[in-house]
Amino acid sequence: MKKGKKLYEGKAKIIYATSDKSLVIQYFKDDATAFNNLKKSTIQGKGVLNNRISEHILTNLTQIGIKNHLVKRLNMREQIIKLVEIIPIEFIVRNVATGSLTKRLGIEEGTVLKHPLLEYCLKDDKLGDPLIAEEHILAFDWATKLELEKVKKMILRINDFMIGMFGAVGIKLIDFKLEFGKLKENGKTEVILADEISPDTCRLWDSITDKRLDKDRFRKDLGDLIPAYTEVAKRLGILHEHSNLSSVNVTKLRSIKKKK
Ligand code: 5GP
Repeated sequence: MKKGKKLYEGKAKIIYATSDKSLVIQYFKDDATAFNNLKKSTIQGKGVLNNRISEHILTNLTQIGIKNHLVKRLNMREQIIKLVEIIPIEFIVRNVATGSLTKRLGIEEGTVLKHPLLEYCLKDDKLGDPLIAEEHILAFDWATKLELEKVKKMILRINDFMIGMFGAVGIKLIDFKLEFGKLKENGKTEVILADEISPDTCRLWDSITDKRLDKDRFRKDLGDLIPAYTEVAKRLGILHEHSNLSSVNVTKLRSIKKKK
């Protein structure tokens, strides 16, 4: 399959066309941003780890019947995915209160929620991804009532599955963000899971120590982001105990840069 022109560049990923109109290539960058782009950096190796971790999670979700855009991982940084029309909503799922929830409502950090809490944010950087109600989604036709009901069912299943998957390797799934897209296939439109699921889009805390193993290491200047993401990959069984994908990659990148 031939890689075509760049169709879209986001904060952490680039989408390229392919020779097949229904498929695109998703490239994972090393760029990290936070606080609506106010904080920016490049963390070498992050894209490689997110590519692998997201592939692992989406492949597992396929196995439990959650349709998603992943076709296959191509290489260290790229995946072939199905082209979908992204619903402009960030679906936020929370199991434990932290982040914007604690700031917005004064809920104590670390409060375990009785039930998973689902929030919706409009995907709009200029507006700062504002929190919206389900009624907004319907009023502005971002999704139909039926699509939303299906998405909510998928989200609860994804949350249950991921709590178990991470729990088994000593990680608490605190909260995460999901995106969905409309797939047009055989004259039908279906809503499927899209984007990525990785330590960039989830809050993951070590079950015993509460050590942050996610993007909060960047947001809060905690450092050691790559070792934390590597730890997540190792515990999920993606990387072998002694391998260090990210450091191999960083060394490779450095030598390529030097040659240039
Ligand atoms: P909060 O609303 O507390 O900032 O974030 C809740 C969860 O959603 C966190 O796991 C966070 O990583 C994820 N999240 C929310 N908005 C974004 C976003 O724009 N980009 C990414 N990568 N994750 C987000």
